[in-house]
Amino acid sequence: MDKLKSIQPVECTDNPEGVDIDQIREENRKMKEQRIYRICKDKQANRLILPCTHIPCCELCILAVKYCPQCKGAIKGTVAVYFR
Ligand SMILES: [Zn+2]
Ligand SMILES: [Zn+2]
Repeated sequence: MDKLKSIQPVECTDNPEGVDIDQIREENRKMKEQRIYRICKDKQANRLILPCTHIPCCELCILAVKYCPQCKGAIKGTVAVYFR
């Protein structure tokens, strides 16, 4: 039983910086999502996504996303909206 206890920390020290590949992948995914958001930070978002009715994108980056960046919903269609 004592041996089992001593084995567990060894698994951790095998990866000195505590790097978890799954965690890195998750963070990469988040960074990509944030980048999508950033595209529109300097542009006026003007495309309404159907059916979720979010407006996360301009007409340019709506072409680059397959799912709504805001809710991850499928894009069935888009509607141009104009703000005054
Ligand atoms: Zn955009
Ligand atoms: Zn949405």
